[in-house]
Amino acid sequence: MPQEIKVKSVLNKAKKIDSWFLDSYTFNPYSSCSFNCLYCYIRGSKYGTNLETSLSVKINAIELLDMQLANRAKKNQYGFIVVSSATDPYLQIEKKYELTRKALEVILKHKFPVHIITKSDLIERDFDLLAQIDKAAILPPELKDMKRGTIISFSFSTVSDHIAGIFEPGATSPSKRLEVVKKTVSYGFLTGISLMPLLPYISDTTEQLHQTFSTLKKCRVDYVLPATITLFGNERADSKTLMINALQKYYPHLVEKYVRFFSASSNMPGYYQRAFYKKMQELCDEYGLKSSIKTAALKKS
Ligand code: SF4
Repeated sequence: MPQEIKVKSVLNKAKKIDSWFLDSYTFNPYSSCSFNCLYCYIRGSKYGTNLETSLSVKINAIELLDMQLANRAKKNQYGFIVVSSATDPYLQIEKKYELTRKALEVILKHKFPVHIITKSDLIERDFDLLAQIDKAAILPPELKDMKRGTIISFSFSTVSDHIAGIFEPGATSPSKRLEVVKKTVSYGFLTGISLMPLLPYISDTTEQLHQTFSTLKKCRVDYVLPATITLFGNERADSKTLMINALQKYYPHLVEKYVRFFSASSNMPGYYQRAFYKKMQELCDEYGLKSSIKTAALKKS
């Protein structure tokens, strides 16, 4: 059972608009995450460790969000709110607590734009509110031209149900996620895919990448945002340890590579990253997919 906790603040303001996700604010109704992705960046980093056992519900989140957004609106400080940055807004417990749905009602009331990032199919339940926000939101001056108040990004590390079953055991399967991606696109939402992270030598092989990009092209998504993996920590529940353990079981030939890469740093080596981003741009060009949300929104408007 998740813990019910009270917090002092729920709306975090960034110093500047995020260049990838376009948010000025982040809002997390839950703390930690039951989707349990082994590579999750909040494991072993400064954000937390044992995801499932530390799952908690911020029971005063909606009241606080209402107050904090009223203050920001009074000062005309409109900006995209990312829901959520350090958990998933549509965890299984959202069915019971409905904090994300209630937060969207408050966001609509104060006319803020929203960017949902999720691995879940439960988002479909809230299409009604998201459509209203899309029309009613007041955009910050820098993003006025976008003319969209709702951005929906689905997060994938792979489109293979088999690979996802190993590395993100608690999340909605990619095949089910893709079904809801298609529905989101057909509703007319600005819809994209965060490929964060692609798994080195597993979901970033040439064959897997073509499968991923051709699948996303067929879904008619507006943009893709690929990134490499970061792994942290040496404790039992840290992302680096969990990934190495899974590799030992399912991909033993990759263990030595990962150990070497991540012994000195939490990032992949520079030469890999340069080749990775070059390849991603080539794939975006080949499949006609935008690699920026703003560019995709301008094309759509
Ligand atoms: S869904 Fe996101 S926040 Fe949740 S475990 Fe996976 S990567 Fe972490």
